[in-house]
Amino acid sequence: MYSCKKCPGYCCSYPLIALERRDVERLARHFALPYDVAERKFTRTAWGRKWTMRRKADKHYGRICQFFDTEKRCCTIYKARPSVCRSFPGEGRCGYYDFLMFERRAQNDPAFVALTNHS
Ligand code: SF4
Ligand code: SF4
Repeated sequence: MYSCKKCPGYCCSYPLIALERRDVERLARHFALPYDVAERKFTRTAWGRKWTMRRKADKHYGRICQFFDTEKRCCTIYKARPSVCRSFPGEGRCGYYDFLMFERRAQNDPAFVALTNHS
C-alpha cells in the first residue's frame, strides 16, 4: 500500500520525534558509545520531553531527523531506529504516501516532492 523507498521521508521530518530511554540505549549500542555520550550527541530536551531526536537541515522540509540521508532519502540507522519509527504508520496505508502519489499523478512528474507549504 505504500513504499518508503519511493518516498522523500515525510515522517522523518516531524518536528517532534520522541524517544524513550530504551531508544537512546539502542543508539548508544549501535554506535558503541557510552549512554551519556549518545544522549548528549543524539537527543535534546524539547516539547516537554526529556529526549527528542536532534535534527538537521533539509532541502525539502527545512529540517529532518539527523539520521536521515538527505541525498538517498532513507534512514541510515534502520536497524537501530527508535520505537516510534518502527510503529509508524501502522497497518495498511500511509496518508503521506497517498498524498505523494496523488500529487505525482496530478503533476505528471514521478519525482515530484509534494509539500503543503510552497513559500
Ligand atoms: S511518510 Fe510513509 S511512505 Fe514515507 S517514509 Fe514515512 S512511512 Fe514511509
Ligand atoms: S531514525 Fe530513521 S526512520 Fe526514524 S526519523 Fe530518523 S531517519 Fe527516520
